[in-house]
Amino acid sequence: MRLRFWGTRGSLPTFNSDTQVYGGNTSCLSVENEGELIILDAGSGIKPLADSELVKSIREFHILITHMHFDHIQGLGFFTPFFNSECRVNIYGPASNSEELFKILTKYLSPPLFPVRIRDFKADLQFHALPRRSLRTSHLSINASFVCHPGPTLGFRISDDTHSFCYIPDHEVALGVPAFPKSAEWTSGYELAAGCDVLIHDAQYDTEQYPAKTGWGHSTYDQAIKFAELCKVRQLYLFHHDPMHSDLKLEEMLARHKDEARNTTVSLAREGDCIDLPV
Ligand SMILES: [Zn+2]
Ligand SMILES: [Zn+2]
Repeated sequence: MRLRFWGTRGSLPTFNSDTQVYGGNTSCLSVENEGELIILDAGSGIKPLADSELVKSIREFHILITHMHFDHIQGLGFFTPFFNSECRVNIYGPASNSEELFKILTKYLSPPLFPVRIRDFKADLQFHALPRRSLRTSHLSINASFVCHPGPTLGFRISDDTHSFCYIPDHEVALGVPAFPKSAEWTSGYELAAGCDVLIHDAQYDTEQYPAKTGWGHSTYDQAIKFAELCKVRQLYLFHHDPMHSDLKLEEMLARHKDEARNTTVSLAREGDCIDLPV
């Protein structure tokens, strides 16, 4: 199973000389496994993915959307397989039913916000509301659960027979818990991430930023590390980088907090990087 980062930035695509290393595209990951391709979120990073060799030979896609904030859907209309009648695209997202999910996405993918309507896409589109207890593709099982973030927001755990990773890009894990962490079973996202090999987790803020942004739905470096340790995760990738944070700032924050992790290896998610499981 190979994961690849196509967009690691939070909130807003941010391209300048200070974001060259870790990237400026918003949330998007691909998961390649035995000829299958799963896409996590449709931020602006889905555009370079759609232009890549990776999608050329594939005819069935699964796009899992954590939530409807714009930085997680803004690239959706640029996913070129939508315009190929030979393709089938399954879109999964948080909703009470598939009709509701279709309606939410139609608000964005229709004039005046977007020039092409969903019904004009040529691919066979299927909408699936989540969470279900569990979802299976041919080779992978996918679990989705709601996590703490403004509006209905999912985290995903994806597993093959022996390994698993967890993707929780937008998550205010310590909201309302002054001495975080307290008990594991009352911690948002714990069941999803417990014992996974790799966790890709929200780390938008520096510790000093957090008091002014409490309730905005994001975590700090130290909170993400504490969460990974609580969940006994082997490897943590700090994700959803703040648009105001330069490459140097990200590295400076990692250097300051890295030693807080005792059993978890901590890295910065970087656009273009791959993770091969098992790690
Ligand atoms: Zn976001
Ligand atoms: Zn969000």
